[in-house]
Amino acid sequence: MARKKIIAGNWKMNMTPSEALKLVEDLKPLVNNDAVDVVYCVPAIDIVPVVEAVKGTNVQIGAENFYIEDKGAFTGEISAPMLVDAGVKYIIIGHSERRDIFGESDILINKKVKKAFASGLSPILCCGESLELRESGAYTEWIKRQIKWDLEGVTADQVKNLVIAYEPIWAIGTGKTATADQAQEACKLIRDYIAELYDAPTAEAVRIQYGGSMNAGNAAELLSKPDIDGGLIGGASLKVDFAQIVNA
Ligand code: PEP
Repeated sequence: MARKKIIAGNWKMNMTPSEALKLVEDLKPLVNNDAVDVVYCVPAIDIVPVVEAVKGTNVQIGAENFYIEDKGAFTGEISAPMLVDAGVKYIIIGHSERRDIFGESDILINKKVKKAFASGLSPILCCGESLELRESGAYTEWIKRQIKWDLEGVTADQVKNLVIAYEPIWAIGTGKTATADQAQEACKLIRDYIAELYDAPTAEAVRIQYGGSMNAGNAAELLSKPDIDGGLIGGASLKVDFAQIVNA
């Protein structure tokens, strides 16, 4: 069965609640495309108003972060049951900014993936290499190692419902996109590795996005590649241009 494409915006630490509502309203008539899954991953403070604002549309809401405990003394954190109760469907896990700026390890990321599935959230698991690893050629081993550690103990049935975002760090927010061939090669590498870790049907089912300076101008070529099932979009998800990626 053909995999349905998934176009997800990662708003990062942008958009006050009122800015968020304006963007959602502006995008509403433009992203009405049932052929793809459309997701806005939004800051915690925007979740409640944005879930309300997209009711009755094809858009689903994701969160950008959560903690692995259900509740308790974890000042500043938000839990999976809180997100689910608020109407959140997707959760970004393992973004390079959380790995590099906030020190999240593969051990924590693996716990988050398992907790997300156990709570009914669909993880968007990010992986990808630095420029140094890309240039040395060691990026293939690096990506495989991230996938292996982050999916330790995750079942094949769960992986069939997983979204993996291949996001080369050197292409995030830099305006430097991986070429469509580079992105396809890495996404295929990930799919082949899922087949090795699990089995062929699991590899066929898992959706793999490309992320890294994807925009209205380069989306169609990237999305035409056989192993690229969508995009995780940062900067370009903050503008109405995002709709052009959804419809690319
Ligand atoms: C991201 O951070 O997930 C991302 C892909 O950002 P950008 O599109 O801005 O490169």
